[in-house]
Amino acid sequence: MNCYRHPDKEGIAACVACGNFICAECDVIFRSRHYCKACVEQSKTLNFKSALKRSTRNRMIAGVCGGLAEYFSVDPTWIRVAAVLLAVFFMGVPVIIAYLILAIILPKE
Ligand SMILES: [Zn+2]
Ligand SMILES: [Zn+2]
Repeated sequence: MNCYRHPDKEGIAACVACGNFICAECDVIFRSRHYCKACVEQSKTLNFKSALKRSTRNRMIAGVCGGLAEYFSVDPTWIRVAAVLLAVFFMGVPVIIAYLILAIILPKE
């Protein structure tokens, strides 16, 4: 696959916003994800705020783990693993309370 803006250049990544392949020149890495320059330019209002919120894409219960994962740019699985480990160590109660508080106070995206 070649870059959608430069058909003569090899695509090195796919833009996570529009899905088009992009070359090294068009590649913009933001919070460890690849975006094309076009999406960066038109998405100042879109995905580029770093506010902590509940994720609607990465959700299992209320999207708190996914939201934290997106905020810290890590795999949501790790957040869930950490939450489960914390729940085991602290007998569950503080983690469940923290989760419920986050689920209530964090806005949905
Ligand atoms: Zn794009
Ligand atoms: Zn390009």
